[in-house]
Amino acid sequence: MITRPHWSYSQLSQFMRCPLQYYFERIAKLPKPFLPSGLVLGTAVHQALAEYHRRLQSKKSATRDEVRTAFLEAWNDAEKEKPVQFRNGENRQKAQDQGIALLELYQEQPPPKQIVAIEQSMMVPLENSRGQFLEKPLVAVVDLLYRESQELVVNEFKTSGRRFADSEVDNGLQASAYVHAVLQRYDERARVRYTILVKSKSPTIQNLETARTDSDLTRLGDIAEAIERAIASEVFYPVETPMNCSGCPFFRPCRDWTAKSHSRANSNGHAVGETC
Ligand code: SF4
Repeated sequence: MITRPHWSYSQLSQFMRCPLQYYFERIAKLPKPFLPSGLVLGTAVHQALAEYHRRLQSKKSATRDEVRTAFLEAWNDAEKEKPVQFRNGENRQKAQDQGIALLELYQEQPPPKQIVAIEQSMMVPLENSRGQFLEKPLVAVVDLLYRESQELVVNEFKTSGRRFADSEVDNGLQASAYVHAVLQRYDERARVRYTILVKSKSPTIQNLETARTDSDLTRLGDIAEAIERAIASEVFYPVETPMNCSGCPFFRPCRDWTAKSHSRANSNGHAVGETC
């Protein structure tokens, strides 16, 4: 486990999505009353895919049953941690069947051949566009790294209720974080492939590819630096959108939040939403 202060894509994207949610989770460290089912399904699919790819790498075959078992074990582990909250019309069996169907569909695809790494964690320096290194490094964990026609490819897996638009992968910060980390670690610029496991009525798989330039990579450093300044100045505010707030585990403390309560809580050294 990495204990040194660092940036990760999930920290940066959470702050950009909703600075107040970032505050509740990472600064006030409020407990989460439940785990959203989408998160549990996504985590269990990732763990099952990692098991599948590890078996491919060690030249062992992975049967559907073994991948399914890895998925269900990961699901059970999550349930031991916290209650799972399902969306309207969804239930445990339905969600698990959906995850297993997506995994089986993925196993029907041609498998990656030259696997280099699975779930590899890389801690690398972050640099801004002025050529300065940030104090906190970046930690990026790539789902899968392999070679295809001599080139390195980072494969990121997503479970989603809808297909992605090209612009989402072309403009996202996550691919910049991966390309930067691989460049620092392997001295090669990787392509990034997104494999989106779409949770539609009949599950489908969408593959999208993207690449990054040098200026995209220093922009990542600029963004991390700007967020660092915002956090130091305690700039935390809610970004209320249906996409952000449906399923947010901090919905209740967010309703109680006011700019006044926030500054009072900070000056008392208490977290917003805490009882004194
Ligand atoms: S409920 Fe919405 S606005 Fe409030 S913290 Fe959660 S995501 Fe942010």
